Amino acid sequence: MAFEGLSDKLSAVFKKMRGKGKLKEADIKEAMREVRMALLEADVNYKVAKEFVAKVTERAVGDEVLESLTPAQQVIKIVNDELTSLMGETGARINFSSKPPTIVMMCGLQGSGKTTHSAKLALHFKNQGKRPLLVACDVYRPAAIDQLKVVGAKVNVPVFEMGQANPVEIAKKAVSHAKDYGNDLVILDTAGRLHIDQVLIEELQNIKAQVSPQEILLVIDSMIGQDAVNVASSFNEALGIDGVILTKLDGDTRGGAALSVRAVTGKPIKFVGMGEKLEDLEPFYPDRMASRILG
Ligand code: GDP
Repeated sequence: MAFEGLSDKLSAVFKKMRGKGKLKEADIKEAMREVRMALLEADVNYKVAKEFVAKVTERAVGDEVLESLTPAQQVIKIVNDELTSLMGETGARINFSSKPPTIVMMCGLQGSGKTTHSAKLALHFKNQGKRPLLVACDVYRPAAIDQLKVVGAKVNVPVFEMGQANPVEIAKKAVSHAKDYGNDLVILDTAGRLHIDQVLIEELQNIKAQVSPQEILLVIDSMIGQDAVNVASSFNEALGIDGVILTKLDGDTRGGAALSVRAVTGKPIKFVGMGEKLEDLEPFYPDRMASRILG
């Protein structure tokens, strides 16, 4: 279960605080040192953990908390507020173009869940009345095209493919195909690599320049831990992403990516992947995630 370690450690810190009754400044500082350790162990980025704890401490050592009859409760509330704000306050959504089709470009490392989440998004928006078109721009692995066709068929969404042709051409042709056939949402499943490299980034930049997507969504596997912020920063610098889909949150990820990505890149998590099935996609709500972490 995601966040299990973090949730357990935070509840131990708060339990100890409750046991003390009235709190002194030193008690809060001690508790915050433990919160910081728990965040680091959950793979939260070092700087993010440090700033988070500084903010909570600043609010928690005020008279309102120290004079309160339920100080531990107040500290938990502050931690809850700050966790929510760290992840972006309100849920961020996809921007639809006033002039269809809306083009969503999916990017990310190989194995992050791009193809699966292209189909999950297609299903999600099909259920809201959109007419999506999935586009196979990952031409380097023939299996990737077949995989997209398989998941496309499962969600009953058409898949546009041109075999191993140039991905930029495929994207352009797919957009005119969508206009001709009334598809108001074009989802481009682009190629990934095991590591970020210049060839991959240039290809994505070319696709972006040629079809001007409304949304560039970066798919990140939450299991990659501390690396998530490096991946997010690199893609964001090279492409200017609009948001993140954080995948595999159903696994036993420590969860650090969920807490760090927004703070490091300024870009929101828009959806989370909660399983291998194509229905397992949820819009991301920072407040719900914070409550889940705090148990
Ligand atoms: P791509 O290489 O980025 O296109 O990644 P894929 O879509 O092929 O996904 C890689 C693997 O991760 C596949 O075995 C998927 O079934 C699995 N996967 C993708 N998303 C999730 C998720 O949210 N939860 C779980 N448990 N597995 C996922």
